[in-house]
Amino acid sequence: MHEYSLACEIFETVIAIADQNKASAVNSITLEIGRLTHVNPDQLLFCLDVLSGDSIAEGAKVNVNFVSPYGECECGYREDTGVPDNACCDDQQSLYEYALMTCPVCGKLLQLVGGNELIIQTIDIDI
Ligand SMILES: [Zn+2]
Repeated sequence: MHEYSLACEIFETVIAIADQNKASAVNSITLEIGRLTHVNPDQLLFCLDVLSGDSIAEGAKVNVNFVSPYGECECGYREDTGVPDNACCDDQQSLYEYALMTCPVCGKLLQLVGGNELIIQTIDIDI
């Protein structure tokens, strides 16, 4: 499962950073997830919760910030997709529709740029 392997990577990174800082507990983790990663946040959070049981990250709160891609054209035109960054992950459809939109300046198809991130933004620990 895609989300499980991602959760493992995130968990291992969090524990490694916590160990480096001699943390006694991990309070919260903030993730930045691109809206085109096709990660199901509920499954990801469930996997993280299971993995962190009996570790110093047990019960840590996980915050997720979604990041939208933007449309870009060869001619230099650039447009935000208009999808709010923290909108629910379910409206992928609007992104596909957007991907078929053409540049209002030159008429070429807009390229979707970004939106593939999966970054650990912050980790809040007790030392
Ligand atoms: Zn253009």
